[in-house]
Amino acid sequence: MELSDRQEQIIQIVKDNGPITGEHIADRLNLTRATLRPDLAILTMAGFLDARPRVGYFFTGKTGTELLTEKLKKFKVEEYQSVPIVVEDNVSVYDAICTMFLEDVGTLFVTDDQSHLTGVLSRKDLLRASMGNQDINSIPVHIIMTRMPNITVCKQEDLLVDAAQQLIEKQIDGLPVIVPREKGLEVIGRITKTNITKALVELARDEHL
Ligand code: ADP
Repeated sequence: MELSDRQEQIIQIVKDNGPITGEHIADRLNLTRATLRPDLAILTMAGFLDARPRVGYFFTGKTGTELLTEKLKKFKVEEYQSVPIVVEDNVSVYDAICTMFLEDVGTLFVTDDQSHLTGVLSRKDLLRASMGNQDINSIPVHIIMTRMPNITVCKQEDLLVDAAQQLIEKQIDGLPVIVPREKGLEVIGRITKTNITKALVELARDEHL
């Protein structure tokens, strides 16, 4: 985050003199305590300063980068997941391609008639199946999909950074967000590279102060 000149001054005063009360900081800047209050609130919320009742403000010693990293590590999958696009495993490759275009996604999740996850279809899975002389109207997607138990999944409560690491390690574009049920996995969301990019942009734009 960009700090104002006054906020930089406050940090310096607290670094040199902390713990120091709000009143004493205000005195040094020839300002009233009330004028200073918003700056102190911002610096405390952003993690540069910490406040102890009856003791005053002290410098946490954390750099901007450390604070950003701390925040990034708190992001949860549930805050960033999108709606999953799901097809049943008996639909044709042709229909899956249509769904992918209509829904404007790069990954489809495949379920059985009980809505349990059975597989994943990527763009290239569908392209591969469309090459050659196969009749894509008659091939069901379960023939060509990547199937369970080889599907990498995540849960709502997982950290976004752990989901991102899975995408990198497995070299895939997306993960289904699942809830384990008695007879299988219910798909309730998806996390893709786009969701992770959005989180990064939010962070850079200070929306997670
Ligand atoms: P593309 O194949 O279009 O580049 P991906 O990199 O996402 O897209 O997919 C690569 C392969 O990994 C595909 O065969 C796909 O079925 C499979 N795949 C995609 N997502 C997952 C996942 N979450 N778990 C397991 N396999 C996956």
